Amino acid sequence: MAKKESDNQSAAIMEKYSVRCRYCGQKNSVKEDYKNNAAKCGRCKLPLSNEPHKKFADLSKHDYVHPADSKALAALKAIPGIDTALKQLLKVTGESAMRVSFMASAVQITPKQCPDLYAKLQVACTTLGVDMPDFFLQQNPVVNAFTGGVDKAVIVLWTGLVEKLNEEELLAVIAHEVGHIHAEHVLYLTAARLIEALMNASVAAIVPGSDIIKFLVSAGISSALLAWARRAELSCDRAALLVTQDPHIIGRTMMKLAGGTYASKIDYDEFLNQARDFQKNYDENKLDRFWADLLNAGLTHPFPIWRVSEILKFVDSGQYNDLMRK
Ligand SMILES: [Zn+2]
Ligand SMILES: [Zn+2]
Repeated sequence: MAKKESDNQSAAIMEKYSVRCRYCGQKNSVKEDYKNNAAKCGRCKLPLSNEPHKKFADLSKHDYVHPADSKALAALKAIPGIDTALKQLLKVTGESAMRVSFMASAVQITPKQCPDLYAKLQVACTTLGVDMPDFFLQQNPVVNAFTGGVDKAVIVLWTGLVEKLNEEELLAVIAHEVGHIHAEHVLYLTAARLIEALMNASVAAIVPGSDIIKFLVSAGISSALLAWARRAELSCDRAALLVTQDPHIIGRTMMKLAGGTYASKIDYDEFLNQARDFQKNYDENKLDRFWADLLNAGLTHPFPIWRVSEILKFVDSGQYNDLMRK
C-alpha cells in the first residue's frame, strides 16, 4: 500500500473514532463502542455527544432577563442619589481589597490550575458572549458562589459547592455567575453582598464604610437593593439554562441545593411535582404566598423550589425555545 493511501486511511480511522466536544471544541479520541453522553471530554470534563451546542452571537440581556428583575431594578434606580452612594461605598471598602483578599486566600483558576473548571468558564463565556473574568476557588463549606467587581468582574466558587456538584451542574452554576456579568448586575450585586456583610454589627464598627451603610439603610436603599438581588437570581438561572441548554440540569442542580448530596436518593420527577405544587399554592393561596415572601425576604437567593418553578415557566412559555431558534 502506498504511504499516502495508508496515511489517509489512518486519518479516516482517527476521524471515525474522534468526537469534537460540543461545549469546548476539543477533539477527543473515543473507543469503537462510543455512545453519546457515555464518555467525558478530556478538557472540560463535560459529557461528549454529537448533539449541537448553540453559541449566542448577539444575545441581549433583554432577551432573557426576568420581569421581576427589571421591575425591581427600575425601582432601585429611581431612588435619588443611589449611584453616588453605592460608588462611594465601593470606593471606601475597596474593590482592590477584595481582589487582594482572593489572591491571598483562594486558589486562582487558570488554564493550568483546575483546567476543567477554567474550560467550563470559557464555555459559559463564549456561549453568552462575555469577556473572561478573574476566577477563584475558595475554601468555604457553604454551598455558594459569588460574582463581584467594579472595574473587572471576579467569580469565586466555594469548595462546599464544587465538591457536591457533578460536571454539568458545575457548568450550570458557573454559567449562572457569568449570567450576572452578562445581565450587568455586577456593580449592584457587589454593593448588595457588601451591605449584607457590613450590616453585621461587629464588622460595621471597624469598617470605614459604616457611615455610608447607615445612610443606605436609612434611605431604604439597602432593602431595595437586597430585594432586587434576589430577583436578579431568576434572570441568571435563565442565563444558566441558555448555556446548559437542558432545563433538567438546572432542575437537578436546584435539587442538590435543596437536598444536598442526599439528592442521589431523591426522585427528580417528584421534586418537579413539588415545584409545580409550590407554584400552584403560591398562585392560589394568599397565606402561603405571604409566608413564602416573608421567609424569602431573609435569604440572599430565592428558594430552590421557586427557582425550579420559574425555570419550568420560562420553558413552558416558549420563550426559551424562541431564544434557541434565534
Ligand atoms: Zn470539552
Ligand atoms: Zn446569583
